[in-house]
Amino acid sequence: GTDDRISRISSTIRVIPDFPKPGILFQDITTLLLDPKAFKDTIDLFVERYKDKNINVVAGVEARGFIFGPPIALAIGAKFVPMRKPKKLPGEVISEEYSLEYGTDTMEMHVGAVQPGERAIVVDDLIATGGTLNAAIRLLERVGVTVVECACVIELPELEGRVKLGNKPLFVLVSSA
Ligand code: AMP
Repeated sequence: GTDDRISRISSTIRVIPDFPKPGILFQDITTLLLDPKAFKDTIDLFVERYKDKNINVVAGVEARGFIFGPPIALAIGAKFVPMRKPKKLPGEVISEEYSLEYGTDTMEMHVGAVQPGERAIVVDDLIATGGTLNAAIRLLERVGVTVVECACVIELPELEGRVKLGNKPLFVLVSSA
């Protein structure tokens, strides 16, 4: 059942202390990708949730949203839209700035990739403070797209990223203490 799949997925995620800097417990999903059943279960759980929700757009956040987003998009018949770091997308872009622990970062999306009235989910591997997903939501909503939900493999609940998403629903497979 679903719980067996979640336990298996959870057990394949490797936790690396002090990466990329002291005090961070890095949740490494590359070990999940090494287990074909866990990887398939991960994608299946998202597909089961979104297949009948009239989703046109799967927006994936660089970089690990590019791993989980495309197989979901293919399975539900939606387009995949990459949300990228600055100066990576070659066409005309719109951008959104967001704050990090120290300083700011920017996320970009191609103009014309999505149309007003389309329905999107935003996919990333993990939500920490929620700043990244929040920037993706703002980018999509600025161009008239309805963001139905955000979807992540892992949530770090202590950082209360859900609060930063306001009333936007968040679906996660694994909650990590
Ligand atoms: P945030 O904007 O604070 O929600 O951070 C989420 C982004 O940072 C995601 O793209 C994650 O891949 C990455 N990230 C933040 N904290 C961690 C962590 N402890 N382990 C792995 N990735 C993380």
